[in-house]
Amino acid sequence: MSLTNQPDPEERRRVVAQDLANVMHPIVQHRALEKSQMVVTGAQGSTIVDADGTSYLDAMAGLWCVNIGYGRTELAEIAAEQMQQMSYYPHTGMNLPAARLGEQLNTLMGGDYHTYFVNSGSEANEAGFKVARQYAKHEFPGQFRFKTIARHYAYHGTTLATLAAGGMGERKMKFEPYAGEFIHVPAPTCYRCPLGLEYPSCKTACATAFEATILAEGPQTVAEVIVEPIMSAVGVAVPPDDYLPRVEAICRKYDVLLHVDEVINGFGRTGKMFAHQHYGISPDIMAVAKGIVSAYLPIAATVVKNRVFESFLGEVAEARQVMQVNTYGGHPVAAAVAVRNIEIMLEEQLPERAATMGAYLMDGFKATLFKHAITGDIRGKGLLIGIELVTDRESKVQLDGALVQGVVDFCKANGVIVGRSGGGSRHSNTIVFSPPLVITRSECDTLIEVMDKALAATVAKMAG
Ligand code: PMP
Repeated sequence: MSLTNQPDPEERRRVVAQDLANVMHPIVQHRALEKSQMVVTGAQGSTIVDADGTSYLDAMAGLWCVNIGYGRTELAEIAAEQMQQMSYYPHTGMNLPAARLGEQLNTLMGGDYHTYFVNSGSEANEAGFKVARQYAKHEFPGQFRFKTIARHYAYHGTTLATLAAGGMGERKMKFEPYAGEFIHVPAPTCYRCPLGLEYPSCKTACATAFEATILAEGPQTVAEVIVEPIMSAVGVAVPPDDYLPRVEAICRKYDVLLHVDEVINGFGRTGKMFAHQHYGISPDIMAVAKGIVSAYLPIAATVVKNRVFESFLGEVAEARQVMQVNTYGGHPVAAAVAVRNIEIMLEEQLPERAATMGAYLMDGFKATLFKHAITGDIRGKGLLIGIELVTDRESKVQLDGALVQGVVDFCKANGVIVGRSGGGSRHSNTIVFSPPLVITRSECDTLIEVMDKALAATVAKMAG
């Protein structure tokens, strides 16, 4: 829809009433929706428009996902063409777009991978857990490798297993208990080191924790380790450069698979096609979603290294095939759109653009926002940035939740949608930015300016 072709106010009121009477929404208070009444009806580039005509700069790219920006009508045409040609057939057979997408992913990963298609990031990680377990059943017949080692405060999805793998108390506690096969180690949240140490004198002890945990559990019980290379939802935690190589070396030492979650990090977000590529590691399993199709349709994938994939080959009688199926896996329409989405990313060099624009935004934030005493830390890579708010820089005491929310609300009132980290009281005081990779310099200037005003207003509120 074009940005000017908005429904009339009466229509907006009707939709709001219809929605509130019939629909359950995720993770927001329905009362808040009643108040905001936001109905997004148009979107273009990095801008979204409410049905009341108000436009916003969307510095979260939806839910960290519209990497190539909104409003690419070319993708609608591709979807329509594919739907007319062949709308669906189960992925127990082959189809053209999914084969092409598999080839693209393999090429982007250097040519040693096969891909299993699913529909969401949660399913991509869940399929990853199952690949790791099934691989272990094939390859270590005398052992019982079923455990996954993950990190505190991680987010890996919303299904029961991915929640269990996650480490966010406030997301998990309503659904407890979990079965216990996910074990957690401290995360590399260096600004608030969970071990009370400082880099580099810590010798990256949080990476070494994986080894201690594998040994304590018994390596013959551990199938895999899961890491999001740059933790997003906990307020953007960029690990020290030697962290992931150390984790990888520990995995290799104990024959444990390395599973990376690139659901947010992937497809250019951090300035490279995949974030793990900053660190020279080579995952056995990689979960991707969001940016794979820039949220134009639902599709996601579990990308598996060939030495793991080969374990799924064999005679029919051996029943080594992938023991799971998703009805919509490898959906031809979503795959066709994803193929073109990735082509656009490469043609327009969006990962490189994320690196340049991310550096511009980061420099701007640093130059402008540290004058406010409540700016604790500014960190990130590419167009994935977190600004942690504190009562003062010395004590690092987290800024009160209501004041942090006040910053988010101030930005919205001034035409900018920003995010706020999860992770419970220890980590929910970070404002997060994950804009479309097509964000312009002047839009970055707007983000800096609005954040500057938001922090000044917060400081004034605290003073008076
Ligand atoms: N992993 C990470 C790192 C995520 O941030 C998310 C969602 N934000 C998921 C997995 C789950 O993806 P989905 O919501 O598509 O299931």
